[in-house]
Amino acid sequence: MGYQIRKAAVIGAGVMGAAIAAHLANVGIPSLLLDIVPPDAGADRNRVARAGLERALKARPAAFYSKEQARLITVGNIEDNLQEAALADWVVEAVFERLDVKQQLYDRLEPLLGDNTIVSSNTSGLPAHLLTAGRSERFRRHFLITHFFNPVRYMRLLEIVPDQQTDPALVSFMQDFATEVLGKGVVLAKDTPNFIANRIGVYGFLSTIRRALEEGYTVSEVDAILGPSMGRPKSAVFRTADLSGLDTLVHVADNIYENAPDDPEREIFRVPEVVRELVRRGWLGEKSGQGFYKRIKNPGGESTILELNLQTLEYQPQQKPRFESIGAARNLDDPSQRMLTVLNGNDRAAQLARETLADSLIYAARLAPEIADSIVAVDQAMRWGFNFDLGSFEGWDILLEHPETLYRVLRSHPSFKDVSEEQAPATLSALAEKHGARLPELVRRVITQGEGRFYSGPIGQRRYFDFHSGSYQPVPQLRGSLSLSVAKAQNKVIRENGSASLIDLGDGVVCVEFHTKMNAIDQDIIEMLHYAVEEGQKQFRAIVIANDAPDFSAGANLFLMLVGARNGQWEMLEQAVNSFQQVNMLLKYSPIPVVVAPTGRTLGGGCEIVMHSSHVRAHAETYIGLVEVGAGLVPGGGGVKELLLRHGARLEDQQSRSAGGPFAAPRRVFELVAMATVATSAVEAQEYRFLRKSDSITTNRDLLLRDAKADALRLAEAREAGRWQPPQPAMLLLPGPGGRLVLEQQIENMLLAGKITEHDAVIGRHLARIVTGGNTSPLTPLTEQQVLDLEREAFLSLCGMEKTQERMQAILMTGKPLRN
Ligand code: NAD
Repeated sequence: MGYQIRKAAVIGAGVMGAAIAAHLANVGIPSLLLDIVPPDAGADRNRVARAGLERALKARPAAFYSKEQARLITVGNIEDNLQEAALADWVVEAVFERLDVKQQLYDRLEPLLGDNTIVSSNTSGLPAHLLTAGRSERFRRHFLITHFFNPVRYMRLLEIVPDQQTDPALVSFMQDFATEVLGKGVVLAKDTPNFIANRIGVYGFLSTIRRALEEGYTVSEVDAILGPSMGRPKSAVFRTADLSGLDTLVHVADNIYENAPDDPEREIFRVPEVVRELVRRGWLGEKSGQGFYKRIKNPGGESTILELNLQTLEYQPQQKPRFESIGAARNLDDPSQRMLTVLNGNDRAAQLARETLADSLIYAARLAPEIADSIVAVDQAMRWGFNFDLGSFEGWDILLEHPETLYRVLRSHPSFKDVSEEQAPATLSALAEKHGARLPELVRRVITQGEGRFYSGPIGQRRYFDFHSGSYQPVPQLRGSLSLSVAKAQNKVIRENGSASLIDLGDGVVCVEFHTKMNAIDQDIIEMLHYAVEEGQKQFRAIVIANDAPDFSAGANLFLMLVGARNGQWEMLEQAVNSFQQVNMLLKYSPIPVVVAPTGRTLGGGCEIVMHSSHVRAHAETYIGLVEVGAGLVPGGGGVKELLLRHGARLEDQQSRSAGGPFAAPRRVFELVAMATVATSAVEAQEYRFLRKSDSITTNRDLLLRDAKADALRLAEAREAGRWQPPQPAMLLLPGPGGRLVLEQQIENMLLAGKITEHDAVIGRHLARIVTGGNTSPLTPLTEQQVLDLEREAFLSLCGMEKTQERMQAILMTGKPLRN
């Protein structure tokens, strides 16, 4: 029988349940969110679920793509609404992590379930076979564990754990659904305590805190050592623990200790007294305001972060630890080079890095066959569940390629302690021969049966060491997924300069990829876009603008602007702005369709490119906006013009009076640009109209290019069938000086009230002039070029001002806007 999910129910409206319902709403799936009826409920029987929903609405970072979407969630309670819930396509159980509580709920749910209703538990560690013990065959066929990570919207990982009797068709349906619809990185895990990510991750945390306590490392030292320099996120170890909640951590550790009696490393899961004491005191981390760190407000109002002294359990000012090895690694781009630099160091930082890496890699290698089907699953779980740059076996590979470093790392592990430095073997095979018994079996096998590394083969044809067969198998790819690095490795680059490449995606689609720092836009990028439209139309059917990076573009290259402005190179600047405007117009009126695929930060000029395309295929996590005022500027590439058109300034909209009068669009656009509004998701971007309602959204970053290419092909086919053509040139109707005076009065008021600075007001007046159309009259339509001229004039005039140059410099130096 086929599965589908059109309507869901989530039972348990706590931290996870409410966030799962929110994410379902994000992708357009309505759900019923239920919780208990509290004893003192009175008439307000849905109070607990409603409180959960309200918490999700206030969550930071936001749980919803847009608050609007909360309307898809209906709150209820398990006394009155369980029957309705049981008839949904999917019931997600997210109640307390207690077997008896979950089982009692299933007792009540089971008789009410629809024939094909899927039931899943969000348990972080209770085994599937215990959750389903004693249930009917029907229940067990339709049951699995779907383990989301917190925060649900942002964490890529979803572990799926089938029960022995789960319908295999359900497992593959859920994998597809979670990948394609929810945008998750799905990892199948075996039914073992705490599955994959938490088993290895919590082991890593506990072994680290043990080392820190025994060897006297402080909280901030550990976080400085085991952060980005070792391929981990900035929150490193203790800050990550604070974010997850120390009670959760202890819960997971206790669960493994109790339920994995044969784990040879079981003693590591015995939680150190310090951590238990913190939990006893209610110092649970972020959610209770203090844990390993504590934020306090100074009398002056600014806040300071203190760190816990692990010996005295008192908070003390945070240190700024400095280590030679970390300093040497910090600025290297390649995570494996950073790790090697630290591991080969000779200071205390290097020592702790070697010890903790040895602990966690050896544990992962010993355990992998028991908890996962492949090493790929383990690596994905560690990268997606903890935001590590590299998974455990990718880490092993770096060491296996550098036997000397490998040996140094191994010697810091207890099982190699009695091996002297002189006994260091020169090669991997000598290592396996001499010390094979000390190595995890999997590592020994990869040296003796395999190629001495876990992954092999060029980009696009990567294979992994399969521990079942002892052979290398292709790394599974998502269906239809495309990657620019693979296309490049396959010699599909047609043209290239220092900042951009033109890559053949096949089927007549060509891709423009930017590859500058933060994908900042410069002349080479403009030149490549120009070439793509002018020449591309002769050879190709459609153009895609996309990249493999976390951010689409941080905007124009401010450094070049600042240097130009400081040197008075006005002609060069004018020419640069003009060429950007013209290339955007080329994109907009390109005779072949142009599809842009933004993701992450898509700011300033990046936003302008997006707004000038035929169609946008946006990643759901796209943060787009016109933020030029932060750099003392106004948008100069047609951003204001496009936003005006989308908010009703188009001549036809004004004539049909559907647009709320001539002043509505200028006022709204002024607001959005003057406040440097950035949408916090693609859905919100549609509300602000940086994206159109007709633009499409992909939740899974790894599928963005696949979907953008499919859109491009669809439009190309429509064009070839005569159903698509570029837009007609637009005209705008704007109010002119009358409207400008109104906005200027508002600016004056804000200035007098001390809400903005003098230079904010200067920028505001320039912006007011653009959005109201300069000296136009409310009856005279303007061409797009006339509005572009206004943008360009304002932009260049601001570039010449000292205060704007100070703002540009501040962004370049600190990454933060200066309010001068
Ligand atoms: P929570 O304590 O925040 O919320 C649990 C909710 O369940 C509460 O609102 C409670 O009133 C409700 N509840 C209890 N019994 C119920 C019943 N019989 N019927 C309906 N509602 C009931 O817990 P949480 O952190 O959201 O965890 C929920 C589940 O998700 C647990 O299994 C937990 O292990 C798992 N999980 C938690 C995290 C995390 O970081 N918090 C991460 C992954 C998985």
